[in-house]
Amino acid sequence: MSLEEYKRKRDFRKTKEPLGEVKKGEGKIYVIQKHYASHLHWDLRLEKQGVLKSWAVPKEPPTKKGVKRLIISTEDHPVDYASFEGEIAEGEYGAGKVEIWDRGTYDEEKWGENEIIVRLKGKRLSGRYCLIRFKKVENGWLFFRCDKDGG
Ligand code: MN
Repeated sequence: MSLEEYKRKRDFRKTKEPLGEVKKGEGKIYVIQKHYASHLHWDLRLEKQGVLKSWAVPKEPPTKKGVKRLIISTEDHPVDYASFEGEIAEGEYGAGKVEIWDRGTYDEEKWGENEIIVRLKGKRLSGRYCLIRFKKVENGWLFFRCDKDGG
């Protein structure tokens, strides 16, 4: 996938969000942005194949075991977006404030069609996390902490 959908949704004369491009090489950025849009949500992003794979998280991301969040995959974002904070203008796509809620790196354990397992190394989220596709909901995934020690 490319950044076409990301670019199509935005008017870069009106938003300060990065235009960005697909990067070469494989970084391992992990970031969660808190997004005060019409509905407050968090955006989980993982660098993969030159872009940020992205999911909208409707409630605060789980820091502890035992909390499962239904998250919705959204369009790929440019890697430059990982450092974006600021106000998206009224009337623009995703209007509202964006702030970085957590940031670090991640190690990939598995990246499958229906299951992604990563070890997040952030300040708020740190540990092994699973994303399991939830087919009852379009683009739905379950996101939860899944430590190996029986959790
Ligand atoms: Mn968002």
